[in-house]
Order: sequence, then structure tokens, then C-alpha cells
Amino acid sequence: METFVTSSVHDNVGVIVINNPPVNALSSGVLEGIHAAVSALEGNADVRAIVVIGGGRTFVAGADINQLVEVIAGRGALPAFHPVFNAIEDCAKPVVMAIHGTALGGGLELAMAGHYRVAAPDAQVGQPEVKIGLIPGAGGTQRLPRLVGVAKAAELCAFGEPIPAREALEAGIVDKIIEGDLLTGAMAFARKATGPRRTRDLPVTPADLSEIRRKLRRTLIAPSAALDAVAAAVTLPFAEGIRREGEIFERCLHSDQCKALIHAFFAERAVAKIPDIPKDTPVYPIRQAAVIGAGTMGGGIAMALANAGIPVRIKDTEHVALDRGLATIRKNYERSVKSGRLTAAVAEERMGRISPQLGWEGFDQADIIIEAVFESMAVKKQVFTEIDKVAKRDCLLASNTSTLDIDAIAAVTSRPQMVIGTHFFSPANVMRLVEVVRGKATEKPVIATAMALAKTLKKAGVVVRNGFGFVGNRMVFPYMEQAQFLVEEGATPEQVDRALTDFGMAMGPLAVADLSGIDVFWRILQEFPPPAGTRQPEAVSKLYAAGRYGQKTGAGFYRYDENRKPAPDPEVLRLIQKSNRAIPDEEIVERCIYALINEGAKVLEEGIALRAVDIDVIYLTGYGFPAYRGGPMFYADTVGLKTICDRLSDFGWKPATLLDKLAREGKAFASL
Ligand code: NAD
Repeated sequence: METFVTSSVHDNVGVIVINNPPVNALSSGVLEGIHAAVSALEGNADVRAIVVIGGGRTFVAGADINQLVEVIAGRGALPAFHPVFNAIEDCAKPVVMAIHGTALGGGLELAMAGHYRVAAPDAQVGQPEVKIGLIPGAGGTQRLPRLVGVAKAAELCAFGEPIPAREALEAGIVDKIIEGDLLTGAMAFARKATGPRRTRDLPVTPADLSEIRRKLRRTLIAPSAALDAVAAAVTLPFAEGIRREGEIFERCLHSDQCKALIHAFFAERAVAKIPDIPKDTPVYPIRQAAVIGAGTMGGGIAMALANAGIPVRIKDTEHVALDRGLATIRKNYERSVKSGRLTAAVAEERMGRISPQLGWEGFDQADIIIEAVFESMAVKKQVFTEIDKVAKRDCLLASNTSTLDIDAIAAVTSRPQMVIGTHFFSPANVMRLVEVVRGKATEKPVIATAMALAKTLKKAGVVVRNGFGFVGNRMVFPYMEQAQFLVEEGATPEQVDRALTDFGMAMGPLAVADLSGIDVFWRILQEFPPPAGTRQPEAVSKLYAAGRYGQKTGAGFYRYDENRKPAPDPEVLRLIQKSNRAIPDEEIVERCIYALINEGAKVLEEGIALRAVDIDVIYLTGYGFPAYRGGPMFYADTVGLKTICDRLSDFGWKPATLLDKLAREGKAFASL
């Protein structure tokens, strides 16, 4: 049997060490080990006090989420936390929890079952369960209010943000910060402890939670459930409070939101695995980078590289463009310094990694060259012809194109195997998505390198195949089309956007169109006209003709003041609306989201996206799709593919072949 827990005695102090790498997750085995060790030390006459500490880099970072997944799927039971935590709390000898790294979720609940807590200065504690749609389920909502008060406990459980050791000390979670060796300090603390101080026996005083409740996002189940559970600590005795917590936890555990959030949690790890590119595929080291084009995207990409410690040259054709680009980069860093996110020294260091230039000097040293010039095939071909002449043989040649054919770009070089798409999203220094576009000839180490680079930049890389709009933007078009039709048929832009933000989208589609530029959409429509004979919305063309390009011209689907604050504009309705049918919000959501899903099915069918989960990650990280719905394809499975197909027929649409097939077979996208 594996030993997750070891114990020993030093000068009358029993020391229990938890060893379940990498993060000491509280699996059943760990819990049993702690239980046995506490009992043994309690019965050992030589022991006066007990210290529990994590082996490796952390205390306990949480419960085992894989085990939760099994429980949700009906394949197992939850680990038995309470008997173990009660045994710790009941222990007749003082139990000191020594925290380094993180004590999160079940980790903090374990720590609170102890009688005292000491922490390393850089430790963090928290109850982040809401982030996966849950509430603390092992006593957290009952013990925490007894340590920190109801209001602070409510905040920690409802928002899920961890706090640093100093704050935990002030709040009352931690009794002492230990500078120097944690175990030595904890043992000294334990020797001085007068006796057990049981958290469950501490008093709780009521507090008004209405202010916190008002701040909660009303669409989410878990945060308000967490408040209910914390509130029970005031009204119920401890044991009954624990029972109430358990009921609320169960309800959350079997909610669609919890399943979706756990799906989202594991999704990025899933997309990092590419079936035909084994883990041991060699990667090219990326030590130096170069970016061509100092515009919106080039500047953001250069910042992302510099932020990750990679020196980057940035080239443009004209002085003005280069100066403007650098000024924007500097302004962004200054803003981060002002807001306290970066120190001036760190910002300066990052800025110092970016070298602006007009020529090609140093490009022969670059390990990757990322092109971000105008979206024109002629310009891109010209640029790649030049890159091909200067780049060293093992340099990755990447394009940030959002619509153009990567193979056509690769074809102008003498090494199409080194060419790849790295489609960043705007603003590239912030947005986490990178679509990694593999061309026909792209070699596997180049793909593996691009994925590794995304990871280095702390971004979510998703491998997609070459094809118009790749995955994300291709799916946006039918979604946007429906948003326009709905306005033509009688909805207002505000109603369309609000229905979709109520659904959970970070922004409504029409507000997004105004932000990206109506002219950008219009231009793409000219270059890639929709198939003849299909009914097309005219909203974008009409706005374009009226010079309403969106935020940049002060008017698009909305009117904007000088601070770019949107306001409804009756002029838009006069321009676009063809009828004035009262359209229910439900229809807005169904038509827009189902259009997205139906196109997603086509993208899968054509192999442009590898798996449904890849599409989900793209929409979660690049398009503001709500994590609590798991991504468009996961959401489709939640609704049921048959239901979706039936609605598509109601709308007079043809379901994608794959969607239709799965619906007939009673299957889900997850089954693929
Ligand atoms: P932009 O117009 O802001 O910047 C383009 C820059 O490239 C300009 O500074 C221009 O002077 C420079 N440039 C043009 N030709 C050049 C050449 N031959 N050599 C060097 N520099 C040259 O454009 P952008 O929005 O940053 O878009 C760049 C690319 O990124 C396009 O392919 C676009 O489709 C793609 N993209 C844009 C977005 C977005 O939201 N803006 C998102 C994803 C991808």
C-alpha cells in the first residue's frame, strides 16, 4: 500500500507529514493516513502536541477533483472527510497545522479542523470551491465563520479568492506567521500551546450579508448557495450546520453549472494533448523572437513575449507606425504600474526586452518570427518571401492572420514545414487564446513548439486546421448573422445584446461588432462573400454605407460618447429594421447560440477542430463564453442534441450532418 502520510516524534512533538505529490490533494488514502497517524500519536504517552505539515511544495491544495468527477458520474462516493476532521478536532492533545504553499478548499478545511494554524509568510489560504460550481463541503462554511466572523467567511466562500498569510493572520485564520524554517517554528509553537482550542466551540455572531449578496452574479448557483451555508453557521448548532452544508453541497455537485465548470477546468489540459503529436516530440528552444508589424496585434504579441522574459525585436515599415506602436506599449505598461499590477522596475525591464527597428538586423538570430502586418494576402506573401531570405533554417515562421490561407502563405517560402499560424486575440497581451493553425506541410516539432510557446506565455494554445476563419471566427459569422436578422425582424440591439449577456456571454455580439469595427466585418464579407442564394442580413452593409464603423467613428449599432460609452440610437432602427415583431429573449438566445453550435458541428465534421473540447476552450478563452456553461459544445450536450435539432427545424434551418447524426443516435458531442 502507498504511504501518503508519515509520522514521527521529536522531543515530545508528533509530526505528521502529508505526501501526495504534486499538491497533496486530499484523496481517501491521504485522509485515512492522517486519521491513523493522529490516533496513534494521541495514544502515544511521549507525545504532548502534534504538528501536521505538507511534504513537498505545499500544504494541501484541495480535494481530489478527479474523485469528484467520479462521484458526479455515479461511480463512487465522496471521501469521508468528517470522521477524520472530527477526530483531529476531538484530539486531546493540541494539533497545530503548519501551512506553506497553499491551503485551499479541503486543505483549508483540514487546517481549520486543527486547533491552531501557523503559516509561512508566502502561504495562501482560501475556499475556491465556487470556481468549480461548489461550496466548501467538509465543514468550511461552518468552521470559517467561527474563526473570521460571518461576513469575512461569506466573502471568502462566495467569491473564492485566496488570501495571503498576513491577511489570514489579521482575519484570524492563522495564529502566527513563521519566518525561517516552518517545521521548527511550528514545533516550538506546539510545545507552548496550552491545550486544544476547538474551532467548532468558538462563538459565531450574526452579521448582515445583504451587501455581499447584492454583489453576487445572480446567474451563478454556487456563490449564493455558499452564503446560505455560511448563514446556517449562525442559526444552527455546529452538527446541524454541517448537515445543512452537506445538503447544499450535494445540490451544487449535481448541478449543470458544476459539471460545466469542472469540464472547463480540465478542458485546457485536454486540448494540450494532440493525438498524432506525442508528448516527447522535440521542440525548438525559443530564446529570441521577432515580430513584424507594430500595430494593434504586433504590439500586444511583443508585450506577451516580453512579459514571459523573451527578448523581442519589432519591425515596421515606417517611423510613425513604429513610434505609435511603441507609445501604445509604453502606455499599457504605465497603466499596469499605475494600477499597482506591476512595479515600475518590472515594467521597465519588460519594456527593455522590446527592440523597435525598421530593418532586418538581428532577424537571423530569431527562433520565431511572428508576422502581424495588414490582413492582405499580397502583403503577407511579400513579407514571407523576405522572411525566408533572412531567417535561420530552424526558425519558426508564424503568421497572425485571422482569415487567410496558411498553406498559400507557406507556399512562397522555401520551407513550408516551418510555417504555422499563431492566431492571437486582441488585446494579445491580455487575451489567453492562441489558435495554433497547422498547415498541410507544418512539421510536428513546429506545432509542438508553438503549443509550448503558448504555455510559456501563459496562454491557452489550441491546435486547429487551416480553413476560413479557422474555428473561432468561422463560428462567429453565423452567430453574428442571427444577431443582425433579429434586429431586422424587430428586436433592438440592446435587447439582443442583453439577452446574450444574461445568458452569460461577456459581451453582446453587436457591442462586439462595434468594438472590432463594422468596416472590418464588411471587408471580410466582400472578400469572402456568403454562398449565393442564401438569405443574408443587410445590417452590416447598411451601417457601413452610413459611415457607422462602430466605436472608432462614434456610431455603429450604438451611439458612443467621447468616453466610448454606448447609448441606444433610434437612427439604427430606422436604418435596419424591416418589421417590428416582439421577439422573446429565449428566441434570441436560441437562434444565436444554436447557430454557433451548428457551425461548431460543421467545424468538427470537417476536422478543422480536433474535438468538441477544443471548440469549448476557444470560446471560453477567446470569446467570453460563460465557463459555467462549459463552452458551446458542452452546452449543446447539456441541452440535448435532439432538442437542438428540433429547434433548428422550427427555424427552418438544416442541421449540420454530424449534429443530425448524433441527435438521431441519441448521442452527445462528448461521445466523439
Ligand atoms: P494594424 O493595422 O493595427 O497593424 C498592422 C501593422 O503592420 C501596421 O503598423 C503597419 O504599418 C505594419 N505593416 C504593414 N505592412 C508591413 C510590412 N510589409 N512590414 C512591416 N510592417 C508592416 O493591424 P492589426 O489589427 O494589428 O492586425 C495584424 C494582423 O493580425 C492581421 O493579419 C489581422 O487579421 C490579425 N488579427 C487582428 C486582430 C484584431 O482584433 N485587430 C485579431 C486577430 C488577428
